[in-house]
Amino acid sequence: MTFQDLIPVIYLITAVTFILGLKGLSGPTTAVGGNRIAAAGMIVAVAATFATKEYGSYGSGGLALTIGGMAVGAVMGVAGGRLVKMTAMPQMVAIFNGCGGGAAALVSILEYTHEAQSGAPLAWGAVLSSVLGLMIGGVSFSGSAIAYAKLQGVISARAYRYPGQRLITGVVFVAMILLAAWLVLGAAGLVAHARLLVLVALAVAALLAGLALVLPIGGADMPVVISLLNAFTGLAVAMAGFVLSNQLLIVAGTLVGASGTILTRLMSKAMNRSIANVLFAGFGAGAGAAVGAREGDTRTQRAISAEDAAILLGYAQSVIIVPGYGLAVAQAQHAVRELADMLEAKGASVRYAIHPVAGRMPGHMNVLLAEANVPYEKLYDMDQINEDFKNTDVALVIGANDVTNPAARADKSSPIYGMPILNVDQARNVIVIKRSMRSGFAGIENELYLDPKTGMLFGDAKKAVEQVIAELKKAG
Ligand code: NDP
Repeated sequence: MTFQDLIPVIYLITAVTFILGLKGLSGPTTAVGGNRIAAAGMIVAVAATFATKEYGSYGSGGLALTIGGMAVGAVMGVAGGRLVKMTAMPQMVAIFNGCGGGAAALVSILEYTHEAQSGAPLAWGAVLSSVLGLMIGGVSFSGSAIAYAKLQGVISARAYRYPGQRLITGVVFVAMILLAAWLVLGAAGLVAHARLLVLVALAVAALLAGLALVLPIGGADMPVVISLLNAFTGLAVAMAGFVLSNQLLIVAGTLVGASGTILTRLMSKAMNRSIANVLFAGFGAGAGAAVGAREGDTRTQRAISAEDAAILLGYAQSVIIVPGYGLAVAQAQHAVRELADMLEAKGASVRYAIHPVAGRMPGHMNVLLAEANVPYEKLYDMDQINEDFKNTDVALVIGANDVTNPAARADKSSPIYGMPILNVDQARNVIVIKRSMRSGFAGIENELYLDPKTGMLFGDAKKAVEQVIAELKKAG
């Protein structure tokens, strides 16, 4: 038995490490270990792939190109992992995901032309895998690039809509599918040059399809779209695996495809939206606007000071902290933990209510609070804690907005109507910490702020919490 014979076995072992890694990533206490197992598996997989010496089939420069590409990727990966802030994670995932889709599309093009140049008749299965890899990878590449540009503020995050937009999107997709079908079913009858032209046209159509799909989607839906594009990239990578006859790519691509699909469904469900609604409703076209009370509504918000908040919290027996995106922006997690410790020392029970789409990605709040060593058993999912708000003295909302908006329950005209929310408004007292009356991600007003039992403590979340801590210390 040679070392080459062992390579499929090594691939199988690394595939198992990926599955164990994913399993570990599903819980905050096991996530770091899961990540390490999958990373170790990936190192072994790369080493085994080198041992196949496949790079030799791309000429004498194959090895240098492979090492050069890996070096660029490694530098980008390390820099991205270390420098990118938690709040910018969705756009980092988008850009990395786009690179994966683009790479899978390039592999498909390369293998297709490689086979075509060899002069041998093209195998139907290989052509099908190449064409699917190019199509899905191309859509994922350009779609992810737009998602990145919207989230990073390179272009406006609004939903770009224009007359006839659905028709144009439909035409682009039909053209892409027809070109793909032509290559798969009729390529044998084409001369090499014509075949190449159709391949290039397919690549262009796939890139346009990605643009047409993502441009009309508003920034608020972008994390769901990124997750969907992630699933596409997984499929494209699996196709590249078929093209290259590489079992590991097939398994890894399928895992990414499946986990991306599951995540997309979970996020849509948490917002009470269907995936079709996310893709085609143009929700968030005007997201980010400043809002005030509705016309004719004479209620106003009640601003409170850090001292008022400290007095209320100082007397509370039960407190539920509701973290949101603003807590992440302000990096207030350590201050929040300190405040919770102080309240507990005074005899209060302090728990955290975690909405499944609080922040900008699933698990965002769990990761932040874990960073400040908040004990995991104090974090409660929405369903576990929602019934308890009505028996709670103070709900302390820190930088959360949409996930507490009662309009989701009652206002049928609200774009977030039907989204399950945290029952913050049922607590005996509510303190909201945010900088202004501006809207959250969905761009809509929040009636919670006009509720007489809500006190608005305006300011940056970290500074405001620190002021409350200082007031509590003063009071002893
Ligand atoms: P929101 O985006 O609704 O609100 C965040 C609030 O934080 C803003 O109103 C802002 O108000 C405030 N804020 C911002 N910076 C600071 C700061 N430095 N200090 C204090 N407050 C600050 O956040 P939520 O977490 O409530 O909701 C998440 C939203 O994201 C939902 O609409 C959800 O559907 C969407 N989403 C989430 C996904 C996920 O997986 N988590 C995926 C897709 C979408 P102000 O400017 O006045 O300070």
